Amino acid sequence: MSTRLARMGGGGGGGDQRAGSVSCLVCGRGFGRLEDLRRHVRTHTGEKPYTCPMCTFRAAVMSSVYRHMRTVHNINTRATPSLTPSNLPT
Ligand SMILES: [Zn+2]
Ligand SMILES: [Zn+2]
Repeated sequence: MSTRLARMGGGGGGGDQRAGSVSCLVCGRGFGRLEDLRRHVRTHTGEKPYTCPMCTFRAAVMSSVYRHMRTVHNINTRATPSLTPSNLPT
């Protein structure tokens, strides 16, 4: 008698076999193609020229930094905090 827990796997899709699936070594995310993984890995090791001036947060796109600053530091980045102009000619 084999009373196994009947798995309710009535998917019928047939996509369980991960032939040659690769996973990211950084975050563990899986990808079907190596090219996709390579592309993804770049997000970890790729160029991230945009950095948060408040901490060590880095991002590949500026919008990510803006979003980070708003959510983490609660800083409104819409209005760029320009350096207080002390040389106003008026
Ligand atoms: Zn990753
Ligand atoms: Zn930050």
